[in-house]
Amino acid sequence: MIDPFNRPISYLRVSVTDRCDLRCVYCMAEDMTFLPKAEVLSLEELDRLCGTFIGLGVEKIRLTGGEPLVRKNVIQLFRSLGARLGEGGLKELTVTTNGSQLTKLADDLHGAGVRRINVSLDTLDPAAFTAITRWGKLDATLDGIFAAKAAGLAVKINAVALKGVNEHEYDRMLAWCGEHGFDLTLIETMPMGDIGGDRTDQYLPLSRVRARLMEHWTLEETDYRTGGPARYFTVRETGRRIGFITPLTHNFCESCNRVRLTCTGTLYMCLGQDDAADLRRPLRDPAIGEEGLRAAILDAITRKPKGHDFVIGRREDGPAVARHMSVTGG
Ligand code: SAM
Repeated sequence: MIDPFNRPISYLRVSVTDRCDLRCVYCMAEDMTFLPKAEVLSLEELDRLCGTFIGLGVEKIRLTGGEPLVRKNVIQLFRSLGARLGEGGLKELTVTTNGSQLTKLADDLHGAGVRRINVSLDTLDPAAFTAITRWGKLDATLDGIFAAKAAGLAVKINAVALKGVNEHEYDRMLAWCGEHGFDLTLIETMPMGDIGGDRTDQYLPLSRVRARLMEHWTLEETDYRTGGPARYFTVRETGRRIGFITPLTHNFCESCNRVRLTCTGTLYMCLGQDDAADLRRPLRDPAIGEEGLRAAILDAITRKPKGHDFVIGRREDGPAVARHMSVTGG
């Protein structure tokens, strides 16, 4: 699949549920309304749809959410997708999680063929963790992270940079990641979904964070890429990597190789734009069949936009993108 700007599309992110066991303040409102179950694709439907994407050239699939690991029996989907690794055309199967279920599921994920995972962790301070997630417990996530490590999964920690909330912690987090053998990625907040607050209060440009980190750490430029938007540096003192995802201060769209599928079968060609294609109808309509489904996907790819235009400002008219990150998956 090649889009109109000559970018090969080889990476599919799938939000397998919009539900989550946490309510991170920058991600969701406290009283979120979740989708009725009937609108959500079954695990078998998600598997079939992923199979069609693999047939069209997708080599990497990341399951996300909501919290992907709270979806009932989700490990079945990991197993069926894992069976497509290698000869089946898939090169990597991975997941982004808040870590809360990893003590239960880390071994199963490894058994299904997952080798690298991203775990979201914005702070190492128990009180700040509970404040950010509204009710989460830091220990549950830390236990999950160490269970993943013990299961043989490479762990990358993702932290959203939040002004006045965790901005004094990055040195400590970098040291902690170094100590345990994890890479770290810092992410700027993106204006997605109504969160019942003002995002300009949370926005912290990573250019400033990087400059501050460089007072204590030697960050060496690398050309390491994971096919994602992060720009990576090697931290000389720890030997681990630090990545910066800067959708607002730096446009990462030129090399975008991804599309995003929601748990209702809606395909978003860009995280920061509203245009989407409904794949649930062709998926469920027997009259349309596999060829029709492939055609619907290929048609959507022809509409992939050049880039997003997130702007954080004091907008009266709400966020830049109306849907929450939990709909399309972060
Ligand atoms: N529940 C899983 C998790 O916690 O990683 C997967 C879904 S979560 C939406 C994926 C990532 O998106 C998390 O790292 C989260 O911090 C990030 N995220 C959510 N809303 C965001 C926003 N408005 N700006 C930047 N990152 C956001």
